Amino acid sequence: MNKKISDLLKLDTKRTDLKEDLSDKEFFGFPIDPIINAEENLLSKSVKSIAYFSMEYGLAPSVYHEFKSSRPIDPRNIISDHEVFSNIKDMDYYHYLPTKKMVDLPIYSGGLGVLAGDTLKSAADRHIPLVGLGILWDKGYFKQKFWFRSGGQWPEEMPWDPDSYPGLVPLKPRISIPISGTELHLRLWKYYVYSYDLQHVIPLVLLDAEFEENPDYLRELTHQLYRSYNGWIKICQRMILGIGGVKALEKLGYSIDRYHLNEGHAALAFIEKARKSDPEKLKAVFKYTCHTPVEAGHDRFNWQELEAALGKERTESVKRFGRDEKNASLANLTQLAMNTSSAVNGVAQQHGRVMHLQFPAHKDKIKSITNGIHTYTWISQPIRKLLLKYKDRIGDFETNPGLLANVVQLKNETGFREDLWQAHLENKKRLADFLKFWFFKPEAFTLGWARRIAVYKRPALLFQDINRLARLAKDLGPLQIVIAGKAHPEDMPASMHMDEILRQINLLNGEHKTLRICFLENYDTYFAKLLTSSVDLWLNNPLPPFEASGTSGMKAILNGVVQLTTLDGWVVEAADKGLGRIFGYQASLEKLGTETDLRLKEDSSALYDALTELLPEYYSTQAGKRGPGESKWLDMMVNAIAASGYFNTDRMVREYEEKIWQL
Ligand SMILES: *Cc1c(COP(=O)(O)O)cnc(C)c1O
Repeated sequence: MNKKISDLLKLDTKRTDLKEDLSDKEFFGFPIDPIINAEENLLSKSVKSIAYFSMEYGLAPSVYHEFKSSRPIDPRNIISDHEVFSNIKDMDYYHYLPTKKMVDLPIYSGGLGVLAGDTLKSAADRHIPLVGLGILWDKGYFKQKFWFRSGGQWPEEMPWDPDSYPGLVPLKPRISIPISGTELHLRLWKYYVYSYDLQHVIPLVLLDAEFEENPDYLRELTHQLYRSYNGWIKICQRMILGIGGVKALEKLGYSIDRYHLNEGHAALAFIEKARKSDPEKLKAVFKYTCHTPVEAGHDRFNWQELEAALGKERTESVKRFGRDEKNASLANLTQLAMNTSSAVNGVAQQHGRVMHLQFPAHKDKIKSITNGIHTYTWISQPIRKLLLKYKDRIGDFETNPGLLANVVQLKNETGFREDLWQAHLENKKRLADFLKFWFFKPEAFTLGWARRIAVYKRPALLFQDINRLARLAKDLGPLQIVIAGKAHPEDMPASMHMDEILRQINLLNGEHKTLRICFLENYDTYFAKLLTSSVDLWLNNPLPPFEASGTSGMKAILNGVVQLTTLDGWVVEAADKGLGRIFGYQASLEKLGTETDLRLKEDSSALYDALTELLPEYYSTQAGKRGPGESKWLDMMVNAIAASGYFNTDRMVREYEEKIWQL
């Protein structure tokens, strides 16, 4: 790579081992021109650009644009097996599933991060001059290990090697921020997120405290995402993202016109900018997306602990803009972001309405922009092939995902229905291949539930009456259930739900001829894509109205997977689209209720009722009743794909452009 390009990219030239992967034409096997173009745009004062801050990013070469590297990849960056916990207990061996894939860039924990990653991809697809800011978590989120004897999960550190991770490059410039009267040094990394067609990129800058300039206790600050066992660490991590992020932008010389905070974690960015500019003018360029109506999701700190890390001057500024409304002795980062941003959005229409109730003083600036998923990432090969075969009728959905709405016109065509069914079977065979050591039966009705294990998502709802579940499978046909998800190690109530599921699975040992359940270890993006595209039914059962949006169901509908869901988040907007079956408690927005009143008994009963209706519908379709008017199941599959014309990040980013960035 010539000096001009490496200077533009600000690469750390001491890393000579990178030479083979970087040339004047290629960046880890991908074209370099889009990188040059993106860097020049960010440096130019005449091009309006956006800085997007997020604590986590879900980016995974196993499902999107795998960089090529000529150097050996450290084995810690490759996953070679997964274990499952299941009710088939004949031999331990069968719980061991071999695989070979790159680990996801381990800097995310769940839906929030995956959304941030998909946002960068769609921004690249739409040629938007944008740079992402985040943190390089040196020990990842955590690695989940099942504790077979007592039932439960054991969190382990997630060792990985940034130096040999393809596409990740260290930069020469460094920055520092004052923390508790000392200087924390941060080195910077870059990862380039390409558009689906490789014509554009979004640079992602990652901050990292793990290197020789810092004492051990400071290096720890960027070790594990959300492992913040005391208030001080939590504040420091937010300082790194907000203050460090702003300093990184300055150091790199980027000219930024909009600051977008993905969640309140980065709210201190405003405090940093306000030291040098008029706060009132600054508000016009700050924008904020709030992702949860759950109170515990909002960061609060007392003034002493905040000042101890942040120092007096900046704390005074937080006192001015970020006082908790209910308790003046606390700083509240949600409040800070809300008070200092000129546009704010909830992540689905219902969430916007909930926010109006929670923040009546800010009602006028709170908008609703429904989340989405990146179509090109989450579409499975068989479904993509099918839709390309019908491209004449649908249009170029890869360039414009909105055109998927046209799929509904094919609903009554026997040929398309038959092709769709075959594409789905092909997907199911891929799951069968992966789970073959677990005796997966491709002909059995298969249900999936996978996401973060959080209490309001009610992970154990399906297991409230296992006798009824077992009877249902005996009477109506075999039932396979695949589950996956990690509980945050410090979230004790969530871990208890997880233990409960494992205990119930254990109890079903005698039932495994008709009811087979497996819990996959270490849920990640690869599994998210595999499961959301290959099961027959996707279960989503959060307690309304606490799911702000939810996105895994959007991945499933894109692949024609039928939904069984409560009426919450994005589903409220899709309720009349015939994507599956809606069941359970419906929230009244007059009174939000509490997220701990889980209504497990009533809603599990409604869930079993729904399954009782759905199983025969599925089995009759499988038996050959697939024509128009013959199979409601296939109608739902077609409706699902058509609805994904709306529930994608291409549409979402367009709405960001129009309603909140307003460049
Ligand atoms: C999509 C995704 C999620 C989000 O799932 P929800 O059902 O929206 O909670 C979480 N984790 C991973 C790995 C995902 O890909």
